[in-house]
Amino acid sequence: MINKIDKNNHNKELNEIDCICEECLKEDESVTQNLILKGFKICNSCSISKTIFPI
Ligand SMILES: [Zn+2]
Repeated sequence: MINKIDKNNHNKELNEIDCICEECLKEDESVTQNLILKGFKICNSCSISKTIFPI
């Protein structure tokens, strides 16, 4: 008899703190704030750019 011990270790990595701007891919505290306020994952500097130059 062969007894196989199958260990299924699902070690989920902790989700990274979601504060990375989708535009410049930089990590910034303002991204979290803008995500809550505006619904966009965007930092303040990119937010200003989009306000001036809306795509
Ligand atoms: Zn940005």
